[in-house]
Amino acid sequence: MRCAVFLDRDGTLNIEKGYIRNVADVELIPGAARAVRALNDAGILCIITSNQTGAARGYYPISHIHALNHRVVELLMQEAGARIDAVYFCPHYEGGIVPELSCSCVCRKPAPGMIHQAIRDFPDIDLKKSFVVGDKATDIAFARNAGCKGILVTTGYGQDVLSGRYQTLDVAPDAVCSDITAASTYILRTAVR
Ligand SMILES: [Mg+2]
Ligand SMILES: [Zn+2]
Repeated sequence: MRCAVFLDRDGTLNIEKGYIRNVADVELIPGAARAVRALNDAGILCIITSNQTGAARGYYPISHIHALNHRVVELLMQEAGARIDAVYFCPHYEGGIVPELSCSCVCRKPAPGMIHQAIRDFPDIDLKKSFVVGDKATDIAFARNAGCKGILVTTGYGQDVLSGRYQTLDVAPDAVCSDITAASTYILRTAVR
């Protein structure tokens, strides 16, 4: 059974810039590529799990979400040979304006649907040994709902979540880390393999 790390995208791997309309504006958080590479080298699956409401809100087509995801994956590979094993995203948003995407669903974090999808694709993942890394309270609740450990990074919205200015942290994180590099180090130190 394998350990997996479910990585949030915006504010965790790449710099939080709101809704990114130009792929060229995607910028990795410094150290992110090396951090993912270290997890790769330890045999830990690295899987992106991301809520992306921009298409449901009518800001851009769903193809643009794929392009943004692809750019993040490409930058990680270019900078440090880091590999993302799979990407899952939820395009749904109940308050959206594009009818086919504006619904409730089982995959919008904190619901655990994206992790359940990953388990179908990688049946050897051991959720109890696995981690979610993210910058929002919903990422930590996502971890709890799936039975993983939750690590809050203080990049992106993380510092505001920690100070109570953004969202409410109903579930305490298993760890708070300054960024993805510190989270990777924490995982490598505590992962049971
Ligand atoms: Mg985020
Ligand atoms: Zn969804």
